[in-house]
Amino acid sequence: MAVDLHLHSVFSDGTATPEEIVATAAGIGLTGIALTDHDTLAGIPRAKVAAELAAIRFIGGTELSVEWQDQTMHLLVYFLNPGPGPLQDRLEALRRARGERNLRIVALLQGLGLEISIEEVTAEAGHGVVGRPHFAGVMINKGYVQSVAEAFDRYLAAGRPAYAPREKLSAETAIGLARESGAVPVIAHPHTIGLRAAEYATGFSQLASIGLGGIEAYYGEYSPEMRAELVRICGELGIVATGGSDYHGRYKPHLEIGVGKGDLRVPDAAFDQLVAAR
Ligand code: AMP
Ligand code: ZN
Ligand code: FE
Ligand code: FE
Repeated sequence: MAVDLHLHSVFSDGTATPEEIVATAAGIGLTGIALTDHDTLAGIPRAKVAAELAAIRFIGGTELSVEWQDQTMHLLVYFLNPGPGPLQDRLEALRRARGERNLRIVALLQGLGLEISIEEVTAEAGHGVVGRPHFAGVMINKGYVQSVAEAFDRYLAAGRPAYAPREKLSAETAIGLARESGAVPVIAHPHTIGLRAAEYATGFSQLASIGLGGIEAYYGEYSPEMRAELVRICGELGIVATGGSDYHGRYKPHLEIGVGKGDLRVPDAAFDQLVAAR
């Protein structure tokens, strides 16, 4: 019995519909899932209906990029209901900031001699919130790069020539707004923050004291030792050890729903404890 609490659909930078995600999850025997599209709640109603029909448990959420100690941190926000609310009301401004950032990326790419237009990128994204993986998709289609990984390594990643930052909430603000909205904020894949495992405990205890509800400990890119270490830290802080695949369909071809690279298994208890942390 396992769950997957980190999934992206066509409503942001995934390539599967909510219904396809639910069908796959049910097909491999997952008992619960969470949809966590970037900066949007638009996929939640469809995913919720599909999950009900498939008799698997469902949590609606989103994934935000926030600023913490001069670094970018990803924050998963669970139980954030579509509609008005303290954090919900900020999402549109975050998407607008993304739109401005996307125009800057296009200009940078054009300056580097890549003929890419914003129209091509939005077409690639369909009705989803545009993210850098969509730029990568266009770059692959036009033969500029062979893979999403190459697009990030050569152009799109932080520090690369077509990187453009966007306005973000601070971690503290986002955690506060999430709790005011009745949601549970959880740090996603803490390895991307650039801290070493030993530095996590001290840094995260302060966030736990202002409402952080958990840390994504069961993450596909982590070694079993690192997962165990993060589970231990969550226990010490009294917060939930969550986990998920960060499935993005074709944009992250090495990651599958439920199992990540193959060895991921997020225990049902993560879902139950998240419900209890609400
Ligand atoms: P954005 O939200 O537009 O800044 O884009 C972030 C998305 O790009 C997230 O889904 C990340 O997982 C993905 N991403 C970030 N770095 C890389 C990378 N090096 N290779 C592939 N995908 C990445
Ligand atoms: Zn993404
Ligand atoms: Fe992320
Ligand atoms: Fe993600």
